[in-house]
Amino acid sequence: MAAPLLKKELIELILEKESPLQIKLDAEIPPTLTLDQKNALREIKAHQNKPILLHGVTGSGKTELYLNLAAEVIKDQKQALILVPEISLTPQMIERFQKRFANQVAIYHSRLTITQRIHQYQLVKENQVQIVVGTRSAVFLPFDKLGLIVMDEEHDYSYKQAETPRYHCRDVVLYRGKRHQALVVLGSATPAFESYARALKDVYHLVKLPNRINQEKLSCQIVDTKKALKAGQSHILTNQLLEAIALRLQAKQQTLLFLNRRGHTPVLKCNHCQEVLMCDDCDVALTYHQDNKLLICHICGKTKQLPQICPYCQTGSFSYYGFGTQKVVEELNKHFPQAKVVRMDLDSVAAAGSHQKVLDKFHKSGDILIGTQMIAKGLDYPNITLVGILNGDAYLIKDDFRSIETTYALLVQASGRSGRGDTPGEVLIQAYNQDHYALKLACQGDYDRFFRYEMQFRHLALYPPYSYLTSLTLLSKNENQLDLAADQIKTSLSASQFQILGPSQLIRQRNHYRKRITIKSKNLDEMLEVIHQHFASWQNIKSVKVIVDVNPLVWG
Ligand SMILES: [Zn+2]
Ligand SMILES: [Zn+2]
Repeated sequence: MAAPLLKKELIELILEKESPLQIKLDAEIPPTLTLDQKNALREIKAHQNKPILLHGVTGSGKTELYLNLAAEVIKDQKQALILVPEISLTPQMIERFQKRFANQVAIYHSRLTITQRIHQYQLVKENQVQIVVGTRSAVFLPFDKLGLIVMDEEHDYSYKQAETPRYHCRDVVLYRGKRHQALVVLGSATPAFESYARALKDVYHLVKLPNRINQEKLSCQIVDTKKALKAGQSHILTNQLLEAIALRLQAKQQTLLFLNRRGHTPVLKCNHCQEVLMCDDCDVALTYHQDNKLLICHICGKTKQLPQICPYCQTGSFSYYGFGTQKVVEELNKHFPQAKVVRMDLDSVAAAGSHQKVLDKFHKSGDILIGTQMIAKGLDYPNITLVGILNGDAYLIKDDFRSIETTYALLVQASGRSGRGDTPGEVLIQAYNQDHYALKLACQGDYDRFFRYEMQFRHLALYPPYSYLTSLTLLSKNENQLDLAADQIKTSLSASQFQILGPSQLIRQRNHYRKRITIKSKNLDEMLEVIHQHFASWQNIKSVKVIVDVNPLVWG
């Protein structure tokens, strides 16, 4: 568009160099390590020939170990790569590396502008920086003297790319680690089952940090929401949680409330015909958003005005079911009109412009932070002494064999935000199904027991890590053609020795019907070979798209 205007000399082109990312110049002096940290460090160094799985509870000081390892690597004139799940959700990791290593650090993630990205790329290529902190794509940067790769929160799903190429960052990390003979450290408070199983088989060397730095144990309790409801209390904020919040407000300490559901009300149901207001293009209920008074589909983003009468029966009006973050803010304002409540979810972050702005607001003057999963990890504010988890068991029922593992991880990560300073922390998990082992063991912080327990089910059903899966997701606007294609693919695979599951019906999304076929095998190489044989023919099916995902994590 600019070219013709330039030609006519109507506009002028001025080239301006975009300033590189701001970097602080004075490096801080490292703190003394605790005994646990010293031991862990010694063990890591003694087992450099294998990837290390660093299993450290939340608040155990894993980051300080990464900083130490990085310092040693750059002393040897080598480079260090520190991978984090999502830059905006882990701002404190960058800050700590920049504080320690000043201008030796490059930052690399997808939210940089192209110019910034090229600049950071050049810094690495020309060996001008020794350390890179970045998200999964940073694993492809042109290092030539890589001495260390750290993958923090290695269990996190954002390490797997959701679009083609659907690679998992961990696989590339292991490959590059081997090639450069670099030390690989995978760190987590809740390792992926695949990783923990490998560590128990001694494919990785397991190093543990079992205690928090402040030596305080988190006090965690499950609050029976059903019982509270029967006693006439609110199911959104039970009395026990309200009292705990009141105590924190009095003591000028901060509270973090976690609810993995944005918006105001997730379901609107007609009180006459009982129909739920659905998205026209996706088979999901629309969520009501109070701030713009709109119904929004959380799959495709389509919006709708709130209808006065039910469009299905033309008679009834709607009742509200469930609750989201906006509704919780409303409740908090009712109970604590003086408290400064900050909301952090996709909507509030979009309104504020960045995650950092929302977090700064809370850090400076907030009393209560209510947020979705974006507040569950990385936050390290010493004044948070209470974490309340609302609807803690809501994700156990998802139709996905990993839902219990992910619920456990989410609960532990969210809980871990409490009591990171000198004051002991408290965690309250509100749940309907308070006896579920995932909740109980998350509350006790007993990962080993949880792992052993949950692995029994994986073993019985032969799910990963006992097998490998590949999912074929078929999409089409034409339901008949989709059915035909699904049957055809299933038949073509039936000659193989693998177990073929499905085709199963998935919910419609963005006006596309969807089906899934899952291939299960104990031998990954053989499975990949068969997929390669068929791949071209799958891509040629008329009006049906086939998405192949090897080792899928998300089963939407
Ligand atoms: Zn109706
Ligand atoms: Zn939709």
